[in-house]
Amino acid sequence: MTQNLNNFIYLFRSLISLMQKDIHPEYNNDCAVTCACGNKFTTGSTMKAIRVELCNKCHPFYTGKQKFVDTARRVEKFQERVDKKTTASAARKGKKVKKAAGAVKKIAKKAEKKASKA
Ligand SMILES: [Zn+2]
Repeated sequence: MTQNLNNFIYLFRSLISLMQKDIHPEYNNDCAVTCACGNKFTTGSTMKAIRVELCNKCHPFYTGKQKFVDTARRVEKFQERVDKKTTASAARKGKKVKKAAGAVKKIAKKAEKKASKA
């Protein structure tokens, strides 16, 4: 077992020595991750600090509670669009009303023609 581990360490070290120099970013073992809910933890990353919107302390999968994550204002934008549409359609007359008005005009014209003939 220890032989296997030693073999692995040897392989790992030889791989690291094979890495090209000056092309790899610096790796930080103590990258601070801050969540929008206030939770903080450290991890390894090439970045020094990471800000996230969800973590295991506030994600619905782990908490079991429903939660809306609206980072791009999607719900608000959709509501705005719906409101615009409803107000626009309320201001418009509609097909049925226009058709009825057209029919009334036609009948009036016909009646006029008949009256002029007679
Ligand atoms: Zn969180």
